[in-house]
This record gives sequence, C-alpha cells and structure tokens, in this order.
Amino acid sequence: MTVDLSVPVVHLHIGGEARTGGSGGVHQHVYPATGEVQGPVPLAGPDDVDAAVGAAHQAYAQWRAWRPSERARVLRRLGELMERDAAEIARLSVLDNGMSAGMSQPLVAIMANWTSYYAGWADKVEGRVTSFPANQRELGYSMPEPYGVVGIILTWNGPVVSVGMKLIPALAAGNTVVMKPSELTPYATEHLMGLVKEAGIPDGIVNLVLGGPETGDALVRHPLVNKVSFTGGPATARKILTRCAESLKPAVLELGGKSANVLFPDADLDTAVAVNAFSVLGTLAGQGCAIPSRMIVHNDIYDDVADRVLAIVSGMRCGDPFDPATLISPVVTREARQRILAMIDRAQTDGAKLLAGGRVPDYLSRECSDGFFVEPTVFGDVEPDSELGQIEVFGPVLSLMRFETEEQAIAIANSTEYGLAAYVYTKDIDRVQRLVSALDAGGVYVNGASPVTGCELAFGGVGISGYGREGGEEGLFEFLRTKAVGIA
Ligand code: NAD
Repeated sequence: MTVDLSVPVVHLHIGGEARTGGSGGVHQHVYPATGEVQGPVPLAGPDDVDAAVGAAHQAYAQWRAWRPSERARVLRRLGELMERDAAEIARLSVLDNGMSAGMSQPLVAIMANWTSYYAGWADKVEGRVTSFPANQRELGYSMPEPYGVVGIILTWNGPVVSVGMKLIPALAAGNTVVMKPSELTPYATEHLMGLVKEAGIPDGIVNLVLGGPETGDALVRHPLVNKVSFTGGPATARKILTRCAESLKPAVLELGGKSANVLFPDADLDTAVAVNAFSVLGTLAGQGCAIPSRMIVHNDIYDDVADRVLAIVSGMRCGDPFDPATLISPVVTREARQRILAMIDRAQTDGAKLLAGGRVPDYLSRECSDGFFVEPTVFGDVEPDSELGQIEVFGPVLSLMRFETEEQAIAIANSTEYGLAAYVYTKDIDRVQRLVSALDAGGVYVNGASPVTGCELAFGGVGISGYGREGGEEGLFEFLRTKAVGIA
C-alpha cells in the first residue's frame, strides 16, 4: 500500500497573509503512528494574536454590511469545496493526529454537512416584533446582532468537526473570527484556510493562529474579542473562565465526558454491543468527548454482553491508520499514552477486572513500532465511584458495570460530575421516557442514535461537560446577542 505522507507548509493566517513564522517559536509536529517528526509548525505569540484580532476587527464592518444571502452563498460554496477536497482533508486529518482513515472520512463529511446546514441559516436570522399597541404609538422589536470578533479555540481530537460546529455558525451569524487550533493538529485546517479564500470569503474575516496555552490565553484576554467558543478539557475551561471573568466576557464551553450507556435485558444486543464497543475503542482510540465509556449493564445480560464485547475486541487491531484493516489508531502523544497506561494500572489496583488489552501491542509493524498505540482495553466490574468509574480516560478503555434496578442504573449513570451524553438501549417506550428525563446529560440517545452526526440537533453538556450548545438554531444563537428596540 503506497500512502502519501507529505504534509503542507503550515502558516499563521492573519488578514489574508500567510506567515511562515510566528513570535511564539516553533513546534515540531510528530506523527503519532510512527513517532517521527513531520515538520515545523509556527507558533503565534501575543503580538501575532493581536495582529489577527486586529485584522478580524477591521474586517467586521465589511462582513456585516454584506447581504445575508451573500454570506449564505459563500458559505455554501465553502461547503462544496470541502466536499470536492474531502479525500485530501481526510488524509491530512490522519497525519494531524493519527486517526484512522476509516474515521477521518466520515468526520470530513460531517464538517461539510454542518457547513451547508449553517450556510442555510445565514439569511434566516430574524428578530421579533413584540408590541405594537397603536394607541400608545410605540413599536418594540428585537434584533439579533453578531458579537463582532469571536475567538475560537479547538482541541486536537477533531478540529475539522469543530470547524463545522463553531466557525461556520459564527460566520453565518455575521461575526469575524480568530481561530486557534491546537499546535498538534495543523494540517487539515491549513488546507481549509485555502478553501476559505477560494470560496470568496474576504481577507481578515477568518484568521488562524496556531499555538498552545499561551496563544489561547492571549486570544481569550484580547479586549477586542467579544466572545469565546472553546472545546477542550474542564481544567483549561476553568482557566479560560477566570480570564473571561476579568472583562465579563461570555464563553461557550464544550468539554469532556464520561458518558453512560444503559443496557436493559430487552435491548437489541447485536446493535448495542457493536455500537458501544466500536464507538469507545474505535473512535479515535477512545479520544472522543461523547463516547459511551461506561457500559452499565443489567445483571441478567451482563455475562452475555461481556462475552460479546470480548469477541468484538479480539478482532480489533492497532496499526497503520491508513490500512483499512486498522480499527485502533494511536493516541495523540507519547505523554498521552503514558497517562492512559498509568490509569489502566491504577484501575487494576482499584479492583477492576482487566478483561482485555491493557498494554502496548507487541505485534506492530516496523514502521509503527515507535507509534503511540494502546491495545483496546476492557475492564469488568468497575466500581462506579472508582477513578476509572469517574474520570475521563480519553483513551481506548471501556468500563463494564452492573445494575439490578432501573433506579440503580440511573443513579450510576448520574454519579459523575460530567454530563455530556447518555445512551439507553431498551424496547420499552415508557422506560425510554422515564430515562430521558431522569438522566443528567446534555443529550440522551436511544437504541443506536448518536450525537453530532445530526447538525440540526443541539449538542452540549451539563455539569463539568460545559455549557452552551452547538448545532441547530441554539448553536447559531450562541453567536448572536439580542438588541431590544423601542420606537415611540
Ligand atoms: P485542553 O483543554 O488541554 O486544550 C484544548 C485547547 O485549549 C487547545 O487548543 C489548547 O492549546 C488550548 N489551551 C490550553 N490552555 C489554555 C489556556 N490557558 N487558555 C486558552 N487556551 C488554552 O484539552 P485537550 O487535552 O487538548 O483535549 C481533550 C479534552 O477535550 C477532553 O476532555 C475532551 O473530552 C474534550 N473535548 C470535548 C469536545 C466537546 O465537544 N464536548 C470535543 C472534543 C474534545
């Protein structure tokens, strides 16, 4: 199999200018599947961030003056260009973070879908006439307005999906943007910046700065950034909110999860087990925010479910992400692998039963032998209040837990501080309705439904999974604020 491993030259994109250097230094990008350095990534320092925000601020008046239907037209065009270049964007997504090619293609399709969906919203933003009492000769109405410059901070696990979820609605609402992907994932967004230009979006409307925490912090605290949209972990979210508190700046936070999947004895187990095992272990090697990493199984079907999970896992191989046979891609960095392996060790000390995996695979090809792989790992009889039962692993680790009654299942599902997604498998519609209202989560997905693939539905968390929503009308209105108008 010949695979093109070439990567583009990475730039900071500021006011339409592509800069090969930044004042924040250089990061050497490492391909997680081989551990090899791929090339330099310029990092933006505070002065680069200031220039990018300045460009976005200057471009705002022009973008806002465009007819909404014109904004819709160029965003639709951008979606078409994403579809045209889907294969290349998917290839670069693999080189970004080592995700499997089988995963990167659907993620690019999701980005293109979200883009055409929000392009459709650009000319449908409407206010409301709230009072028109002729005798008082007064007219009152509300007018949604963009914020101005929005700062968007992305994490490394799915930058292309976040582009569809954040960048496009921000633009559709009439904002200009400075976007900061992680320095770990520079390639797909580099390609997208070329498409932004090709689509006819004027210079300065979308700016991109690469970098780590210092770059993100400079963006959040910039006085001309009026709203922050962040995807990442709760620890970083706390720092961002502390920064936002200084100027009372609003923020949308899409954070992590420890999502429960509750399986009742009447569930379609073929679907339930396969979907759960593949989405926890096969989705970016478990580095997905909304994956059902806690499988909460009724006692009557527990052994059957465990056997089925192990049968699936025995056929899951780590390896070259471009090989169609590979289901388990590497994790993002050497440090991430160390952290995951340490959690696996502690889980065994805590009494969870290791049923599969738990180590670095010993069958890797020569090319991948220095990659950051972890075997797909399954633990049984995980205690709900143990570290593994409570804390997001962000690696290919699935936890099985038992329950006896519906009340117990709900209590276990709701026992973490997170609340991003919850999943339920049962054929009993009354039970579905009870669980939908009892589960503390931003979304409840039943019998195989999944979040994010449907851009029409709002997605987001409760608790330490964050707040604010992406998707649907709610996701658009995160980038708009309402002005009240009264005319006597
Ligand atoms: P992270 O919080 O360390 O980093 C996320 C981004 O924030 C990066 O771009 C990073 O450079 C930037 N950053 C770091 N410190 C900053 C600071 N002080 N100020 C401003 N920006 C700063 O997260 P991570 O380890 O890259 O990602 C993993 C987390 O993201 C997991 O918890 C995962 O569940 C979550 N996640 C959530 C979603 C969702 O939509 N809910 C999607 C993907 C990932």
